[in-house]
Amino acid sequence: MIPYGKQYIDDDDIAEVIKVLKSDFITTGPKIQEFEGKFAERVGAKYAVVVSNGTAALHVACLAAGLTGGQEIITTPMTFAASANCALYCGAKPVFADIDAQGLIDAEQIEMKVSKKTKIMIPVHYAGMPCNLKRLKEIATKNNCLIIEDACHALGSKYEGTKIGACHFSDMSVFSFHPVKHITTGEGGMITTNNEELFNKLRVLRTHGITNEAKNFVNPPDGPWYHEMQMLGYNYRMTDIQATLGISQLKKLKNFIQRRREIVKKYSLAFAGNKYFDLIPENKNQFSSYHLCPILLKDKSGNMRGKIFQKMREAGLGIQVHYIPVYFHPYYQKIGYKKGICPNAEDFYQREISIPLYPAMSDTQVEDVINHIRKIFSELS
Ligand SMILES: *Cc1c(COP(=O)(O)O)cnc(C)c1O
Repeated sequence: MIPYGKQYIDDDDIAEVIKVLKSDFITTGPKIQEFEGKFAERVGAKYAVVVSNGTAALHVACLAAGLTGGQEIITTPMTFAASANCALYCGAKPVFADIDAQGLIDAEQIEMKVSKKTKIMIPVHYAGMPCNLKRLKEIATKNNCLIIEDACHALGSKYEGTKIGACHFSDMSVFSFHPVKHITTGEGGMITTNNEELFNKLRVLRTHGITNEAKNFVNPPDGPWYHEMQMLGYNYRMTDIQATLGISQLKKLKNFIQRRREIVKKYSLAFAGNKYFDLIPENKNQFSSYHLCPILLKDKSGNMRGKIFQKMREAGLGIQVHYIPVYFHPYYQKIGYKKGICPNAEDFYQREISIPLYPAMSDTQVEDVINHIRKIFSELS
């Protein structure tokens, strides 16, 4: 089976991890700060805070932004559930705005859904394709809300030449290091920001809301052991074992992105002009690091996807569908979301299949995928 995505771990990565296992620190040691520093530098942000996974990153980002009950966030339904769940964790309500043809949250749809209750906008750079951040920033400024970019698909992507994660148009950006993402730490997440106040809050929230930095104490310390819990935080720490893997993976990011783009180019050339499906090309403001390679069936009836999916799986292609609209899930239905609220996303869902894309794919595997897909579609007619 050729999966839709997969990690790439080599001997250098393994050697680094072994070094940490033999060292004095296996959690919250020197590797955490080193990873944060190198990551911030790589994406062009002032600060980075590492946490245990991307979902935890979204959660603490919402908390640092001050999200509470009675407030709303606006996000896309074309994403992993975590982009909306983070609002529910804070007692706030996710509001879904519909998507455009690239699968990205549509600024005009946000304007229709924004209200006095809206506190945060959480756009998702679906598949690695950057959202229209300039327009989103305008809307956020006008409506006095913050932007947290869910950049879990977009490490290495650029919008109008600026790196995703640099937070040029947002308050925070959130990344995941799950094995299918651009770099992995097994599980892991990161928040980047240029705002010192948010940075300080994020660091405290990740470790129980406890700080031991004297300059930030609320009360006078009564001894050198003194530390204080200032807010209700969590244990969302990453281990040094993982952080060292992250540092080692970061060195390969440039090659990973190059290979992903090379493979997408091969697909684009191979499938150009076919009558069954489209790929999603970049527009002139976008540079995608391609977390996924979605194909969109031209067939609008919605009858074809199931059949094609089945045949691809039988051919050994570990394809997947990204995504079931978040509010389709039984939990969201149970808390009152109705189908039909984002028709574009629902149509997109009916027509989407993510075909295999990961840096370790060989040219032969890419050719195999192309040949299988050509054969499956040609047998349809
Ligand atoms: C992977 C992902 C997350 C969650 O990250 P985890 O590290 O798996 O918790 C959130 N949002 C999007 C869009 C993702 O793809």
